Amino acid sequence: MIFLWKNWLLLFGVMSVVMILPGCNANVDVNLNSAPAQVAELIGGGEFLIGDEVTVSALPQPGWEFVNWTSGKKVVAETSEYTFVIGKKTTLTANFQAQEYAVSALAQGQGSFLYPENSPRHGVAYAITARPERGYRFVCWLEDGEVVSNVAEYAFIPAGDRELTAMFLPEEYRVELTVDGGGQVVESWTPDALVTLAAIPQAGYEFFGWVDLVSQQEVSGKEEYSFVCQETRNMLARFRKELVPADGSSLSAVVGKATSIGKYAPQDLVTLPRNLSAKQRRVRTHVADALELMAQAALADGVKLNVDSAYRSYNTQYDLFHRYAKRDGVLTAETYSARPGQSEHQLGTAVDFGGTNSDYDDAFAETNQGKWLLANAYKYGFCLSYPKGAQDITGYKYEPWHYRFIGVDLALEWKESGLTLIEILHQKDQAD
Ligand SMILES: [Zn+2]
Repeated sequence: MIFLWKNWLLLFGVMSVVMILPGCNANVDVNLNSAPAQVAELIGGGEFLIGDEVTVSALPQPGWEFVNWTSGKKVVAETSEYTFVIGKKTTLTANFQAQEYAVSALAQGQGSFLYPENSPRHGVAYAITARPERGYRFVCWLEDGEVVSNVAEYAFIPAGDRELTAMFLPEEYRVELTVDGGGQVVESWTPDALVTLAAIPQAGYEFFGWVDLVSQQEVSGKEEYSFVCQETRNMLARFRKELVPADGSSLSAVVGKATSIGKYAPQDLVTLPRNLSAKQRRVRTHVADALELMAQAALADGVKLNVDSAYRSYNTQYDLFHRYAKRDGVLTAETYSARPGQSEHQLGTAVDFGGTNSDYDDAFAETNQGKWLLANAYKYGFCLSYPKGAQDITGYKYEPWHYRFIGVDLALEWKESGLTLIEILHQKDQAD
C-alpha cells in the first residue's frame, strides 16, 4: 500500500511541473554567496527550469546589515528578498556591511577622550583613550557599574552599543602598594572612591594582613580590604609561608615566626616560690625544678636570679602583642613580641629574668644575672633564645634576659654548635 502511494505522488509531481511550464525542459543553477562570506543565511538557491520564477532572500547574522544583491558587478536588487525569472545559470552575491554602533563615553571626575577616526562597527577593533585633566588620574572604565578595564586606552571589538564611563579621581586619591612575600594584589575602585584590595596568595603561602605604613597599624587580617580613599594610602600587603604546626608539649618544639603551637596550654604548671619569682610566675614542673637548681648554683656564686615573666597563655599573649602593636606599630612590635601561638612563653618553659635596673634592655647583659646566665644557664638546660645580631634568623632582636629550657643534653649540644636555638631545634625536627 505504501509502495503504491509513493508511486502515485511521484507521478503527480512530474505532471504538475509539465502542466505549469509547458515546452521548457532545460535545468539551470542559481548559486548564492555572501560578501563577506558566512555572515548570512542565504535561501532560495538550487536547480530550476528556464522560465521559473525564483525568489532568493538573505538573512544577515547579528551585527551585519544587508546592502544589495549583485550579479557580477551589476546591482540587481536593493532588497534582501529578490524575485526574478530565470533565463540562464545565475550567480548572485548578497553584500553586507558591518553594523554601525553607538559608543559613548562619559567622564566621572575631570577628563576627556580621544576617539578613533573610524566609527565603531561590528567586529572591527576599536579603541577609546581616556585622558585625565591636570591634577587627576585615570582609574578605570566602567559600564553598568562594573569595571570593564583598568587601562586608559580601552580597546575592544564592538558587538553592540556601548555606554562607557571613565573614572578620573584626584591625584591624591591613590594607594601606594607594597607587597611582601608570595602573593599579589588586585586593586579596584568605584566612582565614589571606594577601593577594594584583594590579596591572592601563591601556592604554599597565606595572607598575613594589611598594614597601613603611615600609622604602622595592621588594619585588616582579611584578604579583601575595602575603604573610601580620599588621600594617598600607603599600604603593605603581607604574605607568609603557611605556618607549620608544632607540638607545644615537646621540649624541643620549633617555636618561631614560621610555626604555630596553636592554643596549646601545658597541663603541669606550678607557681614559682617567691624567692625565685617575686611576682610568683608559673612554669612547667620540671622547668621549676631546673630553675631551683640553677638559682642555688647562682647564689653560691653570689648572684640572685629572679624570674620576672614566665608562662603566658594564648589569650594573654594575644592581648600583649596587640597592645604593643598599637603602641609601637605592628612591624616594630613583631621584632620583640610574638604573636599568640608563636611565643616560647606559651610553652611554659621560657622565662624572662629581671628585677634589675636594666630589665628588658640590652644592658641586662651587663648585670650580674645577665653575665652569670650567659656563662652557666646551658649547664641547667636553659638556652638564650634570641642572641645578639641574629634577628635575621630568629626574627627577634637581642633579648639577653629571655631563656628557654630544653633539657641539659640538648642545651649542651646547642652550646657546642654555636647555632641559634631555633636552628638547632629545626635540625632536630628535620632529623626526626
Ligand atoms: Zn621572654
